[in-house]
Amino acid sequence: MNAPATIREVDPAPVSQEPSARALDMITRLVGYDTTSRDSNLALIDWVRGYLEGFGAATTLTFNDERNKANLFATLPARDGNRTSNGIVLSGHTDVVPVDGQPWDSDPFKVTRKGDRLYGRGVTDMKSFSAIGLAWVPEFLRRGLARPLHFALSYDEEIGCIGVRRLIADIVARGIRPAGCIVGEPTGMQLVVAHKGKMSWRCRVRGLEAHSSLTPKGVNAVQVACKIVSYITDRARGFRDAGRRDAAYDVPYTTVHVGIIQGGTALNIVPRDCRFEFETRHLPLDDPLRFFDDVRAYARSLLPEMHAVDPDTYIEFDHLSTLPGMDAAAATEISELGKACNGTHHFGKVSFGTEAALFHDVDVPTVICGPGHIEQAHQPNEWVSFEQLVRCEAFMARLADRICQS
Ligand SMILES: [Zn+2]
Repeated sequence: MNAPATIREVDPAPVSQEPSARALDMITRLVGYDTTSRDSNLALIDWVRGYLEGFGAATTLTFNDERNKANLFATLPARDGNRTSNGIVLSGHTDVVPVDGQPWDSDPFKVTRKGDRLYGRGVTDMKSFSAIGLAWVPEFLRRGLARPLHFALSYDEEIGCIGVRRLIADIVARGIRPAGCIVGEPTGMQLVVAHKGKMSWRCRVRGLEAHSSLTPKGVNAVQVACKIVSYITDRARGFRDAGRRDAAYDVPYTTVHVGIIQGGTALNIVPRDCRFEFETRHLPLDDPLRFFDDVRAYARSLLPEMHAVDPDTYIEFDHLSTLPGMDAAAATEISELGKACNGTHHFGKVSFGTEAALFHDVDVPTVICGPGHIEQAHQPNEWVSFEQLVRCEAFMARLADRICQS
């Protein structure tokens, strides 16, 4: 999960039992693998692969270029042997954000139970959902799958939903056509059917150095960059005041923001270089490229004045990342299934991006629903409550009612 947000829906009545021992064991096991995004996740993947193959799953790994990280796609076939069509995907990323510099009271890679909470890196974002799905495999099989059940466990989600793209390309290439996907990012077990998209860029301004007593002989890259930043700020206001709105989001309009700026070397030098990075988090129906084209057109309008001093000055843009928005039609089978499984008629929309958009993009309707709250994600002493885990297990039980034969 890429950014904090709140989900504005009222929780149903709390439940008070404990999660099952098998769920707790599986969470403990998965958290025990340190799968910080910068490191390998292969130890976890190998263990889960072996576990699922022990239940007859067909498994495929897709690797990163260095082959030190992998996605696992596993299929438990339906009783009639079907393993390619009409299945349901349970999807989770295996990587977690770093604990460096965070004041933890316990070992982040050892699940610690205190009262009715579990503490550990990834208990919320997002190993508990995957663990509970895995823990329920024996029960799904005992009851007999009426349709395939897939697990999609990815790497490098936290650094831009990198890994899952290869997994998705692989299942498309192999003709696997799931009917729907449930991504278990922490939503407090609320059903989420839409999220904003994100696109980001870097702007590089090249000016001309001069002694600061001779400013007309130079081109001040910092000041040029700041003009573009101001333009972006104006556009942000425009989205807020006059843009499309969707009240289902915590921030109901498209946002843009500049997060990093660097430029200049000394106060007595007209700065030659300045660069900044900016992003938009847009409503699914807003086109981020239209915004970007406007920014670029504005930047072009600044060039004649720069070129009049030095024709070698420039303003260039690099594309950094794209994560599409997604808005699953409220009546898709997977959203109906999701509502049935978490026992609600409500669904929400969130401002953070997830892998759901990438499944959605290849026509696998996808919803997001997982235990834990985003406020606890990425924090020191990350925790998840038993109440959330119990609710997730109830979700799996109802899923079994709907995808199994008995
Ligand atoms: Zn996440």
